[in-house]
Amino acid sequence: MSLDTAWAIDWVRRTAATIDEHRAELITLDREIGDGDHGENLDRGFRAVLVALDDADLESPGAVFKLVATKLISTVGGAAGPLFGTAYLKAAQAAGDATELDADTLVAVLTAARDGVVSRGKAEVGDKTMIDAWTPAVDAAAAAAAAGETPERVLAAAADAAATGAESTDALVARKGRASYLGDRAVGHRDPGAQSSAYVLRAAVDAA
Ligand code: ADP
Ligand code: MG
Ligand code: MG
Repeated sequence: MSLDTAWAIDWVRRTAATIDEHRAELITLDREIGDGDHGENLDRGFRAVLVALDDADLESPGAVFKLVATKLISTVGGAAGPLFGTAYLKAAQAAGDATELDADTLVAVLTAARDGVVSRGKAEVGDKTMIDAWTPAVDAAAAAAAAGETPERVLAAAADAAATGAESTDALVARKGRASYLGDRAVGHRDPGAQSSAYVLRAAVDAA
């Protein structure tokens, strides 16, 4: 199947489902090194997205991403709301009016999403944030696209790298966000935003 509007909508539905499924786990991760609201924040946001999706007439993946951005920015507080919201907003701009994403456009979309998070949060790889999932995902996607892989395979490469990237945060001291107040005590705990980002990208693969 192609990465078209139906895929984008299914991605959003699957994202809402996986965030709901992992809500308690994300709360626990954030309780360990933050304030314990990450699962709650995202779950509230994607529920609002689902409601909006029912009423919307969407004609491109970009339009779907734009809707997600608008809803997340207005319903999710904290750090993750603006960060994910910006990611989807930049993804929407990169997708433009295309009715279907080819491999190169997909890479552009993922890159724009990551760059949007960086422009807002100024995190680098190794800071123990969602960027530790996003940047390896972007790099793996770019490599897969350069090797001539299909959009579905590019997406799978991104999701696999995001999962590995999220795992890599276990060993890190945080330099951004609430966990940065903990110093060495954050070591041994996974960054919640990196883990949720990995779930978001896995949902994209499952929809494809
Ligand atoms: P809050 O910390 O305001 O309660 P959430 O718990 O919803 O917000 O989100 C926390 C997540 O946000 C962290 O796990 C981390 O991945 C991400 N995060 C926090 N600050 C930054 C930043 N400056 N850049 C990128 N991601 C960040
Ligand atoms: Mg939190
Ligand atoms: Mg909070």
